[in-house]
Amino acid sequence: FFLFFDGSAGVLPSISSLCPQRGQHLSHLLPSSLLGVVKAQTTAVAAPGLSQSAVHGKKVLRKGVVVITGASSGLGLAAAKALAETEKWHVVMACRDFLKAEKAAQSAGMAKENYSIMHLDLASLDSVRQFVHGFRQSGRPLDVLVCNAAIYRPTARKPTYTADGSEMSVGVNHLGHFLLANMLLEDLKKSDYPSRRLIILGSITGNTNTLAGNVPPKAGLGDLRGLAGGLDGRNSSAMIDGGEFDGAKAYKDSKICNMLTMQELHRRFHEDTGITFTSLYPGCIATTGLFREHIPLFRLLFPPFQKFITKGFVSEDESGKRLAQVQIPKQRSINDTQTLTIVLRFLQVVADASLSKSGVYWSWNNNSASFENQLSEEASDAVKAQKLWEISEKLVGLA
Ligand code: NDP
Repeated sequence: FFLFFDGSAGVLPSISSLCPQRGQHLSHLLPSSLLGVVKAQTTAVAAPGLSQSAVHGKKVLRKGVVVITGASSGLGLAAAKALAETEKWHVVMACRDFLKAEKAAQSAGMAKENYSIMHLDLASLDSVRQFVHGFRQSGRPLDVLVCNAAIYRPTARKPTYTADGSEMSVGVNHLGHFLLANMLLEDLKKSDYPSRRLIILGSITGNTNTLAGNVPPKAGLGDLRGLAGGLDGRNSSAMIDGGEFDGAKAYKDSKICNMLTMQELHRRFHEDTGITFTSLYPGCIATTGLFREHIPLFRLLFPPFQKFITKGFVSEDESGKRLAQVQIPKQRSINDTQTLTIVLRFLQVVADASLSKSGVYWSWNNNSASFENQLSEEASDAVKAQKLWEISEKLVGLA
């Protein structure tokens, strides 16, 4: 089985590199009191859509407001749904396809008052700016930002480009989020919510200190010469390290950028702002759209491979069930173990007080306990993080 698929189609390296770990299951569950903990205020909050049981002179509790990019499918949608169902969070689903997101929210049974959808195409820096403008116009505060959206193009033979001319995987996964995070930092700073967080999804595949991270093509940013050239494929390479285009590597490189950016945000802003900056590897959901561009054989075999061989499969509904049982009594409808496990991890990072430490890349062990994972040498290289920051600032027009 392994040799066949490894040798014939490159399926095994792809599978094992993306979701390698066995039995990483959910640990302690966050106390329900911590989800959507709200700050007591003495005045009503005027933002639309907020819960306002305002009585003059009495404490007013408001919902937390969380923006999740790429909430139209997969992990982002499952987390949006789980948070919305607590009725303690208003979820802003920041999505490139408004109609798809609306349909997804409706078929997930999300109540209208618990979410809104705003257009965001991370493949266009103008769209990112417009999103931030529109969000501010909405009058909502921002308490948590989750940079979740991503594309993965492992079979692409040629690069494609964002509206601004950068290679698509790094453009969407890193540069779009880099601009968004920098702009929305101002809004997070203004929030009066007790725990403000900026979370960027990481991945084990970008970490070469793991078995999975050593499956070719390995992530590696080199001296960032391709990025410095704009990743435009003409004057510079479309790859960050200046090498030949490789779709799988571009995704892994973008994930190193995500993890370096989180640490640089922490170094630059945590002390002054108190905002928590974190990243996480939530485990593998073999059934999400992330793998939509992989070869059909991979998509066919990946979920059963995860389920029966690595036992690392975490279904969308299972993580929801655990959530429902222990953590959120009102959680109603995630029925798949794997997804529920992962969603719960996701929610811990969003709202659990025990995961409020900044600058951490969270992972979960076989006993479902969260722990501060060690990033690879490159993914924790402070000098490279600073250089990445400075180049990215120029590319997105912040410097
Ligand atoms: P999905 O493909 O299911 O979801 C990705 C989301 O990103 C979709 O909503 C998609 O929108 C959105 N997106 C893609 N391009 C853009 C864009 N240009 N602008 C705005 N949104 C965009 O993937 P997952 O849920 O699996 O992945 C979510 C995160 O988790 C990613 O960061 C991924 O790297 C990470 N992760 C996932 C793992 C897994 O096993 N699934 C493992 C480790 C990390 P649309 O619906 O319109 O396509």
